[in-house]
Amino acid sequence: MAKQTMVTSVKSNNSMSTLKNVSVGIINLGIRKEKIKEIKLIRQKDIEIDYPQFPLRLASLISILKASGCDIKVLDLGIRGWIENTYDELKDISSFLSEEYDLILLYQTVHTLSEIQRLSRMLNEVEKKNGIILVCANATKKMASLILKKMKSYLDIVVYGEIELPFLLCNFNLSLEKLKGNPNVMYINAEQIKASRVGYLTEGLMNKLPLPAFEELALKDYVKINTHIPLNLSRGCSFNCKHCAVREVYGKSWRGFRLEKIRIMLERLKELTNKNITCSLMDQDIVFNLDWLEGVCRIFKSSGISWDCKLRPDWLTEEVVNRLSSGNCRNVIVSADVLYDYNPHLAQSLGKIITLDTIKKAFLLCKEKGIKATLAVIPEFYPTTKSILKLVEACEASSVALCPLRVFNTLSEDINILSSNLTEIIDKMKTKGIEISILSGMGEEGW
Ligand code: SF4
Repeated sequence: MAKQTMVTSVKSNNSMSTLKNVSVGIINLGIRKEKIKEIKLIRQKDIEIDYPQFPLRLASLISILKASGCDIKVLDLGIRGWIENTYDELKDISSFLSEEYDLILLYQTVHTLSEIQRLSRMLNEVEKKNGIILVCANATKKMASLILKKMKSYLDIVVYGEIELPFLLCNFNLSLEKLKGNPNVMYINAEQIKASRVGYLTEGLMNKLPLPAFEELALKDYVKINTHIPLNLSRGCSFNCKHCAVREVYGKSWRGFRLEKIRIMLERLKELTNKNITCSLMDQDIVFNLDWLEGVCRIFKSSGISWDCKLRPDWLTEEVVNRLSSGNCRNVIVSADVLYDYNPHLAQSLGKIITLDTIKKAFLLCKEKGIKATLAVIPEFYPTTKSILKLVEACEASSVALCPLRVFNTLSEDINILSSNLTEIIDKMKTKGIEISILSGMGEEGW
């Protein structure tokens, strides 16, 4: 693996000029203060929410950069903004950027208009005006292009989709020019957006990914606030539901990490956290390869780490539930985004046909095998609050995850997490003693 790397000098102009180790300043942007306050209030109401969440994809990216010989320095506003009430974001950023870096990498998981404006304000304040890459975890090509249009005077490159791919394809020899030729990258050239094709990690490339650099980010601080660590052990979904960007971002064909790699990753996590964590698998189709799933279950069981995963109810067969139950799986998040019985036209047009009968069977199976099941709904896809409550009752769910539609990859206005619609649903469920969580889409598990 090459330790000397070629870099485009970005301090005076963008021409290829110096050959030396690349220094990369990385800022995990996190979210703005007002949003943090809102989330803290939600948590005080005993509602579980998926923010802050350890930035796994960033840890993965850092590991590629380190393996490329880059010198890395990280400013993690994601956790800092959370634990330091009085922190001055702009002061932090200017002091961080007062050091000279060859490249600045900004990592963003929330793509609302107000977060884009916040980023523009930050970049307006700092002196460095080139060599800046914005990495938009989980964004589609369309969203990346909207962001770049709004940010074109500040950014050299926007990376989207499977963000590890363009960095990995630099073959451990990073430069701005090389990045520009790779998939999942767009930039401005002569006032025009230039975009390469959308690409996906092959299984071979996935398995070339170094272990996420957990130690470069404040894993322990994240765990103190949210014990759920996101993990992505496989990628791809053969479905193409219209409201979901997974197929576009991660592709159709299933690819998984080798079991040995998963075992080493869990061992590392255990060393760093004393196994006081729950791994939340972000995989879109964990049951595609049942032999692989069996291996994953075995590894989790022997690690002693508990985990949860998201699954379509029609994938929860007896065979699958048996495997999960023997593998330390703590919670299955059953996706009932839209219900065919209540809204057949919508379900059909989205391409997600899930019936009440299928959901009831899935819940019953989980109950029989002693696995907790959480019902995940997109409230906007249900005709009324009453219809959601009816579904909860029909499948005897004791835990519900609310996943508002705005989470699904749109560059939207920043509306309150607890809209009046959600508040009404939550209040009614609370009186029935149901556990509530909100999938905010702000952390790593956003689509
Ligand atoms: S909603 Fe689920 S099944 Fe449909 S494309 Fe997205 S991940 Fe796949």
